[in-house]
Amino acid sequence: MKEITELEPKALWKQFAKVCSIPHPSKHEEKLRQYVIDFAQSHGLEYRQDAVGNVVVRKPAAAGYEGHPTVVLQAHMDMVPQKNSDLKFNFETDPIRPYVDGEWVTADGTTLGADDGMGVSAMLAVLEGKDIPHPALECLFTVDEETGLTGANQLGDGMLSGDILINLDSEDEGELYVGCAGAVNVTANFEYKEVATPDDSVGYEVALSGLKGGHSGMEIILQRGNANKLLTRFLRENPYVRISTIDAGGLRNAIPREARAIVAVPVAQTAGFEKAAEDFEQTIRREFALVEDSIRFGVRRVDTPAIVAACDFQTRFVAALTAMPNGIMRMSDAVPGLVETSTNMSRVQLADGKAQLLFMVRCMVNYGKKQVVAMIESVASLAGGRIETQGDYDGWAPNPDSKILHVMKEGYEKLFGRMPEVKAIHAGLECGIIGAKYPQLDMVSVGPTMRYPHSPDEKVEIASVVKFYDFLLYTLKNL
Ligand SMILES: [Zn+2]
Repeated sequence: MKEITELEPKALWKQFAKVCSIPHPSKHEEKLRQYVIDFAQSHGLEYRQDAVGNVVVRKPAAAGYEGHPTVVLQAHMDMVPQKNSDLKFNFETDPIRPYVDGEWVTADGTTLGADDGMGVSAMLAVLEGKDIPHPALECLFTVDEETGLTGANQLGDGMLSGDILINLDSEDEGELYVGCAGAVNVTANFEYKEVATPDDSVGYEVALSGLKGGHSGMEIILQRGNANKLLTRFLRENPYVRISTIDAGGLRNAIPREARAIVAVPVAQTAGFEKAAEDFEQTIRREFALVEDSIRFGVRRVDTPAIVAACDFQTRFVAALTAMPNGIMRMSDAVPGLVETSTNMSRVQLADGKAQLLFMVRCMVNYGKKQVVAMIESVASLAGGRIETQGDYDGWAPNPDSKILHVMKEGYEKLFGRMPEVKAIHAGLECGIIGAKYPQLDMVSVGPTMRYPHSPDEKVEIASVVKFYDFLLYTLKNL
């Protein structure tokens, strides 16, 4: 079998083999950071580390490039540790075992860490190169991108002085990313009085499942069903139902796929209630026929709950759930087909006198995010609830006048004879956060072609690595 160190470009793959041999799962980047620092020292390069553990390594301009603006290259050091369940593997101590599989490089039973080991290796190769023409460089190696963009969020003051940033963490060669969404977590809290279940009631479980769900940023545009909203609709359409508990949805960044409630129904209404549930399933299957294919909605008898939410609260709460903003709020004016602002009503819980709603609001430009938070707050306060926000981070709005984008588009066409695609994503990237801290930066994100990142099937296309690296060197030469 061919070793990955025999692949072209050798300078990059040599570094990638080294990166694979050094454990570096998220929050345990210390060994890889030490390698970067040792590398800087042994090559006589200046470096600096900030409090959270990011490292920037500086390399002076090559001869003839002294007057050019400084360029920041950036990649994250951490990788997502995922393995096949039958494999014994410790990501904190064991080296990743990469191998060539046809046109691709993948790893034996684990994530490969091409995300973002490719970016890290490209920077090390450029730092090591003796005859690469380039302006002054600041290579920024960040920590903990994958579990919360921690390194970017806590990037130290004075780490960067450049005016241009090329992020090396994209997953499709031939695409230039010029924008990403920021986000904020919103939680709405309610308190309510519990009362004894009315006499002559019987208990039912109401359950919705089989929705596709998906990533609350990337897949919000597919307009799939939101389990929490659909459950709400059924409860509102059958107001004689008394709610005892609700346990619906899941993670903030996932479109909710399942919802469950325990309710009490007057004995006299049970036949109508069961019929309403059957009809409801048929109705939502028809409505979502083009985006969902296995919706299941139904009710079944369970023990009658002893307590339910007080009537006036239930009315207000169901009204709030109905009115809460959810889904796409606005499409981008700058990039056709891109969602600009969205919100995902991801979780609804009601039990023991407390109810809670979770949202993740995403936006390319921050005023949109503020507006959606204001909407959630308004609905919550009308219904007697209160909101709190956390984890707020900035978006990166596409800049049609970006100089680096212009240079890279022209360069790509000269090198490869076709125009690259220019894209933005409705999800978080480090660029959004770094750009908010260093607003002078003109930014683009690129990378080689990867498939199935964050899974043990992760792989990187060998031919795309050649193009990615050539394009990077060409860009540095021609800026
Ligand atoms: Zn990444």
